[in-house]
Amino acid sequence: GLTVSQDKIEKWIRPEIRALSAYHVPDPGEMIKLDAMENPYHWPEEMINEWFDVLKNVELNRYPDPSAKKLTEQLRIDMEVPQGADIILGNGSDELIKMIALALSGKERTVLSVEPGFVMYRMIATFADMEYFGVPLNEDFSLNETAILNDIELYNPAVIFIAYPNNPTGNLFDEESIKRIIEAAPGVVIVDEAYHAFAGNSFMPLVNEYDNLLVMRTVSKMGLAGLRLGLLAGNPKWLHEFDKVRLPYNINILTQASAEFAMKHLDVLDQQTQQICEDRETLFNELKQLDGIHVFPSKANFILVRVAEGQADTIFNKLKEQGVLIKNLNPAGGLLKDCLRITVGTPEENSKFLTAFRKLI
Ligand SMILES: *Cc1c(COP(=O)(O)O)cnc(C)c1O
Repeated sequence: GLTVSQDKIEKWIRPEIRALSAYHVPDPGEMIKLDAMENPYHWPEEMINEWFDVLKNVELNRYPDPSAKKLTEQLRIDMEVPQGADIILGNGSDELIKMIALALSGKERTVLSVEPGFVMYRMIATFADMEYFGVPLNEDFSLNETAILNDIELYNPAVIFIAYPNNPTGNLFDEESIKRIIEAAPGVVIVDEAYHAFAGNSFMPLVNEYDNLLVMRTVSKMGLAGLRLGLLAGNPKWLHEFDKVRLPYNINILTQASAEFAMKHLDVLDQQTQQICEDRETLFNELKQLDGIHVFPSKANFILVRVAEGQADTIFNKLKEQGVLIKNLNPAGGLLKDCLRITVGTPEENSKFLTAFRKLI
């Protein structure tokens, strides 16, 4: 084929984009997959059959409902969105982050979040040509409120993203600190509750109390990662504007039908979540007993550990050789140096991981 000259690439692709590496997802093959915060459980067979019946009637030849009305109404109830607040849906919450950035981007518009935090905030800020500032967390991964309030003054952020619980650290930040950040923020504050199902605590009841607070949720960590469905709740005036940058039909017809179906069987998903929370405690207690590592408490469906200095890469690779895929955060550096993140799997998967891990540390 023809070769594109490097000159042309450099002329037309923005330097910030050229400097990025695409979001890397390793191929798990047959490995035990404890790297991506997925729910490890399937549905009961009867429920799968019922779901197939629903899918039989989906008209793939038609465009989906552009505003996904039925699903939206269902999610308002299940996600306990207060009266008076609106919601919009995204193709995963990642798409919502992108819509927010697109709508708020412009000359000298900045994005603020914390480090370590969810990597997509920084990446999407770059896509939207916005400058990103990540305020370091304290050593124990709590919020450095003073530093954040300072940086709000300094950078006048259009949007502040706070994951609650935080990924990849797993902790819930101090609620009062977040409230003071919302009060000080000149623009919007997105509280990203991707792990709400495992944490309980929520800012959802407060969306009517702050005109700049929006709460984001996803069904991904609840057992529906394959559907790609997230939602943003808050003041209708903001959402009305964000909705304008949404591509029509962003929630496909199979996702709409399947999510509506799954929400009717929320008890099954809730029971799986409950099981994962119990297994998180078991895994946490087992890890706690190991010498030479530090285990961080978690309110999510994963646990962060810090291993002996310089050992994380080796441990990660040896686990991989033994068929267990976790997430190596050591390459991210900073407070994540020597850190590994383990998604809570089934009890069998967790114990296979533990058996292999014990011999490596
Ligand atoms: C997983 C995750 C998301 C992405 O969720 P999707 O709905 O699957 O796009 C968003 N925020 C945080 C903090 C996450 O960990």
